[in-house]
Amino acid sequence: MRAHNFNAGPSALPTEVLEQARDELLDFQHSGMSIMEHSHRGKVYEKVHTEALQLVRELMDVPSSHEVVFVSGGGNVQFAQLPLNFLSPGRVADYVVTGGWGEKAVEEAKQVGRVHVVANTKGADGRFIRLPAESEHHFSADAERAYVHVTSNNTLEGTQYHAFPAWLKGPLVADMSSDILCRPVDVTRFSLIYAAAQKNLGPAGLSILVIDKAFLASARSDVPKIWRYAAHAKEGSLLNTPPTFAIYLVKLVLEWTKRLGGALAMERRNTAKANAVYSVVDQHAGFYATSVEKSARSLMNVVFRLPSDALEQQFLKEAEALNMIGLKGHRSTGGIRASLYNATSEGSAQALATFMNDFAQRNG
Ligand code: PMP
Repeated sequence: MRAHNFNAGPSALPTEVLEQARDELLDFQHSGMSIMEHSHRGKVYEKVHTEALQLVRELMDVPSSHEVVFVSGGGNVQFAQLPLNFLSPGRVADYVVTGGWGEKAVEEAKQVGRVHVVANTKGADGRFIRLPAESEHHFSADAERAYVHVTSNNTLEGTQYHAFPAWLKGPLVADMSSDILCRPVDVTRFSLIYAAAQKNLGPAGLSILVIDKAFLASARSDVPKIWRYAAHAKEGSLLNTPPTFAIYLVKLVLEWTKRLGGALAMERRNTAKANAVYSVVDQHAGFYATSVEKSARSLMNVVFRLPSDALEQQFLKEAEALNMIGLKGHRSTGGIRASLYNATSEGSAQALATFMNDFAQRNG
């Protein structure tokens, strides 16, 4: 039996996708071998690769002004690769810090050059529970600003940008690792979007990037070629051997996303799932406590606490007995976190909501 998978990443993949991968594993499209065994320069793999890139373009509505690029490695690689490409001597990189991943991104950028924190919503208690208001942002000067980095969904803390207002200066760069394709997003608003694949797009092993071509043209060329986004873009993301099997699975996940109706359908589904869980939290507000500001609540990661550690342990134990897996909060934040990524079904979210309701009634 498949679990109700609330893992924060790597996370649930659509069952249909896994079934298709299983069926094609030994003999991919009558080629006599697994897709894993094909050359990345051969026709069979190349078709998969091109289709995956094309599906990102289609589902994210990426215009011809932007490149779609796959690179090896996840979000932490991008924390370093981004400044290596765009933080030149004499320039400063602006970071809006709204969570633990943003803090890590800042630390990596500091290894490369000058960093300026535009706004930071960390509270006196060390926790992040909100996004900053316009008045809290202090951007560096237009002439020296290399880019402005935001984390669109704070995976650990359960906050998410629901809009990217015009006053948020650019060139705007977003880490969308934990909410890419969870909803429609105006790609033209961004100079660069990056996302590790292992939440909404597939297995771990690569990141998906969408980069404005004009911005890309301004990238540094004095870094090793393998780190240069422009070199990967120029070679169609085949500069070196890419993680072919992961890209194949991303293609299957994107096809599944398309069959369900694309980004808009994902938003509808994700909103229904998140509402199911948040509504129980709100109904039992004295029992389930969430400090996340309502306007910043994430569709992807629902974070809450119970009245005591003992009750949280009991909650996790009972949930596991009901085949609900991955609900323990991140080690840095504690509490409970339900990750409701694209592939987590409405049935799983509903099962969790029903259990939460029952648990509160028995223990509240
Ligand atoms: N950014 C965000 C928003 C994340 O949630 C994560 C991790 N899940 C990362 C970056 C780091 O990604 P990775 O573990 O792939 O390096």
